[in-house]
Amino acid sequence: MGLSENFIKRMKKKLEKRREEILETLNDLIKRSDADNDIAMDEGDKSLIHYSLHYLSQLSSRELKTFKAIEIALMKIDKGTYGICEHCGKEINPKRIEAIPWAKYCVECQEKIEKGYI
Ligand SMILES: [Zn+2]
Repeated sequence: MGLSENFIKRMKKKLEKRREEILETLNDLIKRSDADNDIAMDEGDKSLIHYSLHYLSQLSSRELKTFKAIEIALMKIDKGTYGICEHCGKEINPKRIEAIPWAKYCVECQEKIEKGYI
């Protein structure tokens, strides 16, 4: 069993769209900061990576968490391990994936994690 190819394709689109939205938020943050003109960086610090990391840290922790989870989910799609709970190794309910395409855990494990049992 496992998830159908079409389902995964659809989730991939959702993931990419959400990632796009977060990157847009990030771009807005960068633009706003540029307007303030209060960036004092050395020449050596002007690399894109520094820039990204610097601004990534300004995203809300929730967005940053989602962003990272999306990256991981997209990687899993490539590897063919998408939709499998990272904790118990069971398949995650497709309905759950539909709601949260970047979910790492099945409902049972997620609940345990939230309650601090794991
Ligand atoms: Zn699980």
